[in-house]
Amino acid sequence: MTGLAGLEAELHRDLARLLLPPANWTAPPPGPDGAPLLDVLVIGAGMYGLAAAAALTFKGLRNLRVIDRAPAGREGPWVTTARMRTLRSPKHLPGIALGLPALTFRAWYEARHGAAAWVALTKIGNADWQDYLRFVRDALALPVENAVELRALVPSAGFVTARLAGPAGERVVHARRVVFAPGRDGTGGPVIPPGIDPVLWPDRAAHTGEAIDLTRLRGKQVAVIGAGASAWDAVATVLEAGAAGCDMYVRRAVLPQVNKGRGSANPGFFEGWGGLPAAEKWRLLAYQYDVQSPPPHESIHRALACAGFRIHLGTPVLAATPAGTGLRLRLPQAEASADFLILGTGYAVDLAGVPPLAALAPRIATWADMYTPPPAWARPALGGYPWLGEDFALVDKPGLATPGLGRIHLFAHAAFASLGAIASDIPGAAAGAERLAHRLAAAFFAEDIGAIHARLEAFAEPELEGTPFFDRAAFG
Ligand SMILES: Cc1cc2nc3c(=O)[nH]c(=O)nc-3n(C[C@H](O)[C@H](O)[C@H](O)COP(=O)(O)OP(=O)(O)OC[C@H]3O[C@@H](n4cnc5c(N)ncnc54)[C@H](O)[C@@H]3O)c2cc1C
Repeated sequence: MTGLAGLEAELHRDLARLLLPPANWTAPPPGPDGAPLLDVLVIGAGMYGLAAAAALTFKGLRNLRVIDRAPAGREGPWVTTARMRTLRSPKHLPGIALGLPALTFRAWYEARHGAAAWVALTKIGNADWQDYLRFVRDALALPVENAVELRALVPSAGFVTARLAGPAGERVVHARRVVFAPGRDGTGGPVIPPGIDPVLWPDRAAHTGEAIDLTRLRGKQVAVIGAGASAWDAVATVLEAGAAGCDMYVRRAVLPQVNKGRGSANPGFFEGWGGLPAAEKWRLLAYQYDVQSPPPHESIHRALACAGFRIHLGTPVLAATPAGTGLRLRLPQAEASADFLILGTGYAVDLAGVPPLAALAPRIATWADMYTPPPAWARPALGGYPWLGEDFALVDKPGLATPGLGRIHLFAHAAFASLGAIASDIPGAAAGAERLAHRLAAAFFAEDIGAIHARLEAFAEPELEGTPFFDRAAFG
C-alpha cells in the first residue's frame, strides 16, 4: 500500500506496537441526568483541540468529545482568514505527531505528494496544513462534531455544564473537565485601537481576522494599521486583488528584527516555563512583548513586489472616522484618507470578551490579580492574561471560590503568561498536549480512586492457573 492509505496502515502498525490508545480506565460517576458524565469535552477542533484529544486518548482518556462551530475542514485560520501563501513556520516542524513518525507533517506530505516534492518544498502551503490536520483527526478517529458552538460554561462541584448549539438546536452536556481551545481569536477577540470608529464596520473596515470581500476593493485605496505578519499579508492580498493603492501605518520607526519565538522554541522553554517563579515568567513575557516578532521576510517581499504599496513608519493612526463614502485617518502631523481600513492589530487576551466565559470572567484570576511586577517591568497591557494552574486550569480570583472553576482548562495562546508557548503556535503543540493529558490523567486517577481501588480488588486474573500452585479457593 502506498500514499495516504499506506501511511495510515503504518500509523496503525506503530500504534499497535505501542499499545496505543489504551482502554478507557476512568470511572465517571452519574451526572445530573443519571447518565455517566463525559470525562472531557474539548471546545475547538483546531490544531490545539485535536492535539489535546489525541494526547488524552493516548492516556486512555477515551470518554471524550470534541466540538467545533466551524464546518469540517474549515477549523482555524488556515484556509479561512489566513492570507499568507505559506505557513510562517519552517517545513521541518513535526506538527502534532506526539512522538509518532507516521503522524508528522513530513510523513503526511511525502505520502500525499511524494518524497521528491518534500525535498523541493520550501514552506508549507496553508491548505496542505489544513489537510494534514484532517489526516490526524481521521487516522486517529478523534470524535469531533462540527457545526456545534459552545454558548456558555457553568462549572459546579463535580462537573461543568456546557450549553451547546448545533443544527439540531440547543443542548447541554455535562463533563468532568472542559478543555477550552478556541484559538487566538477566541480569548478576547480582535484588538480595536482607540479612536477607530466602530461605525466603519462592516462596509469600510475589517480586522485581519474577518472575511474581506476583495472584489469590493478593486480600484480602491486601502489603509492597513499594523506591521505584524497578518498586516503584511493583508497588504499583498488587497493589492494582488486589484486595489489601487495600500498605505501601511506603523507605530514603530523600525520593524522588529528577530523572531524571539523561534529562539525560544525548545524543550527547556516548553517544559520549564510553567514551573518558574511568577517574577521570571513575567520578565520573559514582558521581554517578548517589548521586542515583538518581525513578519516573515516572504510576506515583506510579497508586499514590496506590488505596485501601489506605501509604508509609513513611526506613524500611529490616532483616529479613523467616516468621511464621504470612505474614511479619514488622523495622524500625528497630518490627515489621510482611504476607502477601506484593515486592522492588522492582533488579538486581545480578555476573558470578559469571550461570550461563553463572560459571566465567569469576574471570578477568574488574572495576572493583574496575582502578581505585581517591579515598576521597571510593569506592563499593564499584559495584566489580563489569566493566571492558570500548571494543568492549564482556571484559578479563582483572590477571595472568591467558584466550585468547579478549576475543571476548565484553557488551552490557547492566553495560557502563554502562565505556561509559555505550549498553547500558541505549531512548535509547542505536542508538548502542551502531552502536559495537559499527563495532568488530566493524574487528576482523574485521584478523583476516581475509590472506584479504581474497588476495581483493583475485583480484578481476578488467575495467573497461576495450570501450575501446581493454583489455589481455586482464592477465586471464591
Ligand atoms: C493567520 C495566522 C497564521 C498563523 N501562522 C502560523 C504559522 O505559520 N506557524 C505557527 O506556528 N503558528 C501560526 N499561527 C498561530 C497558531 O499556530 C494558529 O493560530 C493556530 O490556529 C492555533 O491553533 P488553535 O487550535 O489554538 O486555534 P484555531 O486553529 O483557531 O482553532 C480554534 C477552533 O475553535 C473553534 N471555536 C472557537 N470558539 C468556539 C466556540 N465557542 N464553540 C465551538 N468552537 C469554537 C474555532 O471554530 C476554531 O476552529 C498563525 C495564526 C494566524 C491567525
